[in-house]
Amino acid sequence: MTPPTRYLPPTRYLIALGSNVAHPRHGPPPRVLRAALAALDADGLTLIAAAPIIASAPLGPSRRRYANGAALIETALAPLALLDCLQAIEAAFGRTRRGQRWGARTLDLDVVLWSGGLWHDPRLTIPHPEYRRRLFVLGPASRIAADWRDPKTGLCVKHAHARLTRRAHLPKAPRPHV
Ligand code: ATP
Ligand code: MG
Ligand code: MG
Repeated sequence: MTPPTRYLPPTRYLIALGSNVAHPRHGPPPRVLRAALAALDADGLTLIAAAPIIASAPLGPSRRRYANGAALIETALAPLALLDCLQAIEAAFGRTRRGQRWGARTLDLDVVLWSGGLWHDPRLTIPHPEYRRRLFVLGPASRIAADWRDPKTGLCVKHAHARLTRRAHLPKAPRPHV
């Protein structure tokens, strides 16, 4: 059996960054993300573009506000090797996995899209299954990868963002007549 490929010709990945816990050395979440962007430009990864960092409301059980961002990177790492690398960076930033999904975390690095199209195995799904419903991903992503087309829906990042923004502004219930 041939081993899984770890290296590819230069490949692009769109990464979503999130943090809602301060780091003892780096500081509050926006600074954690700035330090994480530096980590995405080292050890075989090249940072091509980084979106301005935004603040967003918490998702799930955690009550702390998030800092969110997006990065476009280039690397020769194949998807699973890149996931190993991202999880090593998360661990280096003090991320611990206590089994609670969406719990408070110093750093979350998710793969949103990659230039190879679709990927699915037990550890990794690309496109990220939830990104189309997340303004905190689509907002930053549309600043650096507006024209990147989702291989599953055929929709560009900027169109997915516009669609979600429109939906977010729709009234939640019919307005009463006065
Ligand atoms: P969500 O994926 O809803 O944003 P999360 O980022 O908090 O939740 P994690 O605890 O960071 O979830 O990751 C759980 C598992 O998700 C990881 O161990 C990883 O194997 C898997 N995973 C599957 N697809 C992806 C992806 N596209 N990017 C990152 N991790 C992924
Ligand atoms: Mg996540
Ligand atoms: Mg994650």
